[in-house]
Amino acid sequence: MALTKEELQAFEKQLCDWRDELENAQSESMHAMHETEGTAYPDPTDQASIETDRNFNLRIQDRERRLIRKIEKTILRLREGEFGLCEGCGGDISIKRLQARPVTTLCIECKHEQEQEERTHIS
Ligand SMILES: [Zn+2]
Repeated sequence: MALTKEELQAFEKQLCDWRDELENAQSESMHAMHETEGTAYPDPTDQASIETDRNFNLRIQDRERRLIRKIEKTILRLREGEFGLCEGCGGDISIKRLQARPVTTLCIECKHEQEQEERTHIS
């Protein structure tokens, strides 16, 4: 493990703050959605645009929920001492890469490999 205790603590704080931020944003937008729910709009165009907003918000929330789960999984990995280890090859993920994308579980080589494989599957 190439990371020091201090670095790990910094990552843990960063991840927890990030998750809290996302969770706060989620409950806020949930609240806003409940407020518009049940309101009758006399103009059908208004109703339609509100539906579009709703769907858009739902998609964002869905993505955020998935991200929150990923962050939580990463925090668990961190506590178990697996943070920064590549799930593909078991090697160290560079700290630069972790700082840019703390929820990553693959080193840059494995990520490239995975992307290449995905491309081959699509074509
Ligand atoms: Zn790897």
